[in-house]
Amino acid sequence: MLIDITCLTCYEHFSENIEVYDGVHQEIIDCEVCCRPNKLLVEQKNGKIIRLDISDGNE
Ligand SMILES: [Zn+2]
Repeated sequence: MLIDITCLTCYEHFSENIEVYDGVHQEIIDCEVCCRPNKLLVEQKNGKIIRLDISDGNE
């Protein structure tokens, strides 16, 4: 699934293809532009994304 991400450091937009299944999925995604880590949290239920959070991967 292609997920749109806005980098917390440089605010650039990029897309990342991530395998998502039902349940909570966390992944560290390095920004394509500034290479800083963004922590992605995706929660899927019955095939639908019900929560998408991006936070600072340095925390
Ligand atoms: Zn960035």
